[in-house]
Amino acid sequence: MELRCEGCAGCCVDWRPLAPDAAGSDRTGRRPPLDDAYDLVPLTRDEIAGFLDDGLGDVLVPRLFEPAAGDGSVRIGGVAVAAAGDRPVFAVGLRKPPKPVAPIGTDEHRWLDACAFLDPTTLQCRIHGGDRYPRACSTYPAHSLELDAETECERVEAAGGGDRLLDDAVPDDTPPLPFGPYAAGSTVFAYPDPDDLDGVIDRLRAERLTPDDRARFVGAAVGSSPGSLSVDRDRMAEARTRARDADSWAGRAIRAWSERAAGDGDRVALAPDDRERLVRELEDDAGAPGTPGWE
Ligand code: SF4
Ligand code: SF4
Repeated sequence: MELRCEGCAGCCVDWRPLAPDAAGSDRTGRRPPLDDAYDLVPLTRDEIAGFLDDGLGDVLVPRLFEPAAGDGSVRIGGVAVAAAGDRPVFAVGLRKPPKPVAPIGTDEHRWLDACAFLDPTTLQCRIHGGDRYPRACSTYPAHSLELDAETECERVEAAGGGDRLLDDAVPDDTPPLPFGPYAAGSTVFAYPDPDDLDGVIDRLRAERLTPDDRARFVGAAVGSSPGSLSVDRDRMAEARTRARDADSWAGRAIRAWSERAAGDGDRVALAPDDRERLVRELEDDAGAPGTPGWE
């Protein structure tokens, strides 16, 4: 694969407001998610535990699914949820607060949902190449190419965002599919206490999940073991507490951006210097790893 990512961030930003006809979603597998996050990055159990170890449990968010044909399901608050037996299945990804960004080759900054780790100024990933850099990001878009599915890079090209996918050969070392046969306990988990989820599904769909809502799923994911949908109760409880207590630069930035943002896709009413100063204040000066820029 050879990609031209400068000025793009198409796989890190919800750019549907810029080009609704061109945008799609290709990290969700065949089950429609109950939330409306765009291109949620599915994390492995070990990656989730790593974020938790770094005090970044407040950047994690669960995803639950509508049942596909032939799936088991449970009803929670009147909503059918894909399940293994009576336990709802879920994945965990990275939160996407609104940020002032100009992705997919545009030059006008707008409020768009963007990954907590995307530097809005350089459009580079703040954890690129580091221990926390998700496998789903480092290998993107190999899985889409493998499945002969449209990639985000091609969607950006179709939206007039420039040439992005320069070579589409799939690397030999591409890892297994995140929602494939080896996903149980690795990227797909089962929540063991469905009776506790009353109200959670409503909040998930309304984008109003509380820190405790998010933490209960992070706990269950970290309590899981690869190859199984069972959950270790002690590990789950300990991880849930750590996720609920997390107070990272990224979690605080998510709150600050959410309070300041205008409507989805609205132009950013800030002079460039003021916008960049705000990014420095809310992210860089608050502890975010820097990015080198494209020069
Ligand atoms: S972790 Fe980095 S590469 Fe992955 S979605 Fe977030 S900003 Fe983009
Ligand atoms: S959509 Fe493709 S070209 Fe754009 S940033 Fe992501 S990987 Fe790079």
